[in-house]
Amino acid sequence: MPQTMTEQILARAAGKDAVVPGDNIWVNVDVLMTHDVCGPGTIGVFKKEFGKDAKVWDREKVVIIPDHYIFTSDKMANRNVDVLRDFVKEQNLPHYYDVGTDRYKGVCHIALPEEGHTRPGEVLLGTDSHTCTAGAFGEFATGIGNTDAGFVMGTGKLWLKVPPTMRFVFHGTMPPYLMAKDLILSVIGDIGCDGATYRAMEFDGDGVYALNIEERMTLCNMVIEAGGKNGVIAPDKLTLDYVNKRNNGQKPYTVVQPQAGAKHIFEKVYDVSKLEPVVAKPHSPDNRAYVSEVKGTKLDRAYIGSCTGGKLTDFRAAAAILQGHTVRIDTFVVPATSEIAREMRSERIGNQTLEEVFLSAGAKIGEPSCAACLGGPSDTFGRLNTPISCISTTNRNYPGRMGHKEAKVFLASPMTVAASAVKGVITDPRDFV
Ligand code: SF4
Repeated sequence: MPQTMTEQILARAAGKDAVVPGDNIWVNVDVLMTHDVCGPGTIGVFKKEFGKDAKVWDREKVVIIPDHYIFTSDKMANRNVDVLRDFVKEQNLPHYYDVGTDRYKGVCHIALPEEGHTRPGEVLLGTDSHTCTAGAFGEFATGIGNTDAGFVMGTGKLWLKVPPTMRFVFHGTMPPYLMAKDLILSVIGDIGCDGATYRAMEFDGDGVYALNIEERMTLCNMVIEAGGKNGVIAPDKLTLDYVNKRNNGQKPYTVVQPQAGAKHIFEKVYDVSKLEPVVAKPHSPDNRAYVSEVKGTKLDRAYIGSCTGGKLTDFRAAAAILQGHTVRIDTFVVPATSEIAREMRSERIGNQTLEEVFLSAGAKIGEPSCAACLGGPSDTFGRLNTPISCISTTNRNYPGRMGHKEAKVFLASPMTVAASAVKGVITDPRDFV
């Protein structure tokens, strides 16, 4: 019987020929990722359950990426990184990207593919809900809690229920004023924050394959905002070229492709040429409005960063709008990773680098990290410490998510955020593009 992408990947990981939605299976994990927020808790569970002298099941398969609360004087946050550092030393783990070294990366979900830890057909589990981002590489990637992660750390296995799959097909040519963020906010607006609860969200169609790999990551990144267990996009040449270039040690992997006749419990087809720029209004990612409906709404701040909106593609798009303009509101720019920060200093638009465009427009640029996406300690770059209104390329806008509980956060594409930064009110990117 034909299987969906997700079913095929999970069947392989369980050593079975086939699985069906609802099956409970033991899967072998290919990569376990943790970071500074959940790593100490995961390590605590691991030590408690497996003993203080226990060794991780496979040191090559554990990846530890400090990224959340990094550039802060907060003692508890700094202590979390110390816990990671001690554990890495004790276990002699090779895949650690330490703060204050040349290896430091920044946001885990972007660091993982950059450092060659994402491969088609694999199972990637991480102690972070946006681990689903890696579904863009044709693998099963999902977030797990510290208890499960502690168990995986000791055994390399996890007991998982196979999710049914919803299919989202994007056809047509994307207009120049739209980005993947508009597509996924449109989907979440249509199905709601619980519309894909414990379901796989598979993306397909020429509109998806026309997107570059970073934009595909943005699509998969936000499936969790609809409750999705995982997002997945079948690999094409673009995916394989990216993966093979970065797959250190050329680890073998098995590409999975969609099978004709596989059963999806839901399908929705979009014509991308007919979509419009959208925002998610406070305080939920499914509180969708067309930008044209809310344009003119006064703002105090713009924020361009995070695993959703802090990639090179996001900065190219924002810089193209900001070049030659001055921002009217405080505008914070945070590259997701050190690699992206470097590229911002070398890639040019006309006679300026992307970094120069942002600085000459009056924006402030922070260090690669999660920064204010998750609020963080009060000295976090860009944090909303007062009840202000912010338009942001991030992925969540629940009360308090970026800091102050009464702050208002509008989620939007980097183009919409940049256009709004120039005008100081929510602005349609079509005014600039
Ligand atoms: S950038 Fe934001 S959403 Fe992404 S991992 Fe960091 S805190 Fe989470």
